[in-house]
Amino acid sequence: MKILLTDIDGVVLDWQKHFNNYLDKYYPDEKLFDPTVFAQGERTGKIIKEFNNTAWIGFLEPWKDSVEVLTELKNMGWKIYGCTSMGTDQYANALRKKNVETLMPNVFTQLDIIPFMQPKGNWLSQWRDSGAVWVEDKWSNAILGADMGIKTFLMKQSYNSKHDYKGVEKVDNWRQIYNKVIQQ
Ligand SMILES: [Mg+2]
Repeated sequence: MKILLTDIDGVVLDWQKHFNNYLDKYYPDEKLFDPTVFAQGERTGKIIKEFNNTAWIGFLEPWKDSVEVLTELKNMGWKIYGCTSMGTDQYANALRKKNVETLMPNVFTQLDIIPFMQPKGNWLSQWRDSGAVWVEDKWSNAILGADMGIKTFLMKQSYNSKHDYKGVEKVDNWRQIYNKVIQQ
């Protein structure tokens, strides 16, 4: 079955670059180490939450080759479902959807937005043993997918590639995912 499940930040969109620009402008004393865990401190977590609700969230750039490859997969008949845990402010959510639609019109069948930092286990369980493919940059969510028998790819980032887990395959970009899944 041609079903692609994907996270958005750090996978489809370059969240980190945009967030670092925001820190430079408004919080020049702060540095981001790992956006996927709260361990970096309560204050940074608060700034991330705030950033996700600013107008900045409407203007992220694509992550590497996401636009090109996701568009190709869509045109080959893949159904693409996104899930992002950016928080549920309705106007920020509208900006996120607009951002994605502007970069890649009609590529996503559906884009689900869940509460800030909420784990994606419930969302993923809809596709347990379905033959779907799952792409994430956050370890805990990648592991949830792999444990459900979903073919899981981890998009490598500076903060996530030090781990290994059975069933989670690390990739550098979308073209590598494309090359692996079209042979299925
Ligand atoms: Mg992410």
